[in-house]
Amino acid sequence: MSEWQCCGTIFISRCILASCLLGYYVTYGRFLLPHVPETVHPPLPDHVEVMNITGNSTDAEIDPETSPGLFQGDMAMDNDIYRFWRVGIRWDTYPDKLWKNAIVPYTISPLYEPSDQVTIMKAIRTINFMTCVRFAPWDGKAKDYLLIWPIKYPKGCWSFVGRFGGAQIVSLQAPDKTSPNCLGSEGRAIHELMHALGVFHEQSRWDRDKFVKVHSDNIIPRFKSNFDKQSLDNTTYSFEYDYDSIMHYGKNFFSKSKGKPTITPKMGHSKKIGQRKGMSKGDCLKLNDLYGCLDNPRSKRKYYNICNFMGI
Ligand SMILES: [Zn+2]
Repeated sequence: MSEWQCCGTIFISRCILASCLLGYYVTYGRFLLPHVPETVHPPLPDHVEVMNITGNSTDAEIDPETSPGLFQGDMAMDNDIYRFWRVGIRWDTYPDKLWKNAIVPYTISPLYEPSDQVTIMKAIRTINFMTCVRFAPWDGKAKDYLLIWPIKYPKGCWSFVGRFGGAQIVSLQAPDKTSPNCLGSEGRAIHELMHALGVFHEQSRWDRDKFVKVHSDNIIPRFKSNFDKQSLDNTTYSFEYDYDSIMHYGKNFFSKSKGKPTITPKMGHSKKIGQRKGMSKGDCLKLNDLYGCLDNPRSKRKYYNICNFMGI
C-alpha cells in the first residue's frame, strides 16, 4: 500500500490528522513520530481552487505564503470554520479550536538542517516570551500537537487555523538554492504559528476598507476571493487595524505582474505592509487577548509592557 492510499477515499479531510498518521509510526530519536507523507491534502472550503504546484516550481517571484494555493494562500480550512471566522477564531462558536491551557505541544521534523531548526526555535521562543502561550516539546503522549514539517506537496508555508485535533501539521519549506523560502528568518514561522494559534489575516477585517484599498484588477482572477472580508456580524476585534501586523498581506500578494499592487494603505501611503520580521505590538496584544493573558491585572500589565517594548 502506498503512503497516499493510507486513508483511502476519506483522505481529504482527515489524513494528515491523527486518524491517519497515528497508525503508522517512524522512530526519530527518542520518539516514535507519525509517518508524514510527502503529499498531504489539507481540508479546504468547497469553492477554493488549489493551485497546481509542481515539484519544479521554483520561481523566486512566488511568495512562499501564496504558493500553496490554500485558503488565502497559506491556511488549511474546513467549511465550518470558513463560515464562522473572524480575524481571530470565534471562540464562542469554536471553543475547541483554542489550545487548552494555552499550551501547545510541538515537535520539529528531523528533516530540517540544524540552522533551520534554530530559526524555528527562535520563532517559538519569541512567542513564548511575548505571550502567555507556551509551546512545549511534545512528550510523545499528548493527543494534540503540532508537527512542524517541510511538506513537499503542497509546498510553501502553510498552517491550519487554531487547534485541529491530533497531529497537526505546520508546513515550513526549508531554504533551497533559489530562495530562503519560509525560513530566511523567524518571521514567516511566527506568521504560520499564529495561524495555528487561531489568528487570521489582518486585511480580512470587516473594517479594512477604511484602511486599505484592494486593487481588484491587479489580482490574478482565480485568487480574488483571497481578498474577501468578513461581515460585521462575524467580526469584532478589540484592537485597531494594524498595518504593521505580521499577519497582513504584502502589497503584491497574488498580483498579476510586478509593479501592479493588489493592496495598498489608504492612510500614510508610504506605509509598508506585509512585514515578516516579527510580531507587531498589535499582534502581540491580539495573541495575549485570545489566550486570556490580559484577564488579570498583573498579567495584563506584564504583557502590555512586553508588547509595547518588543513589538514592531
Ligand atoms: Zn497567512
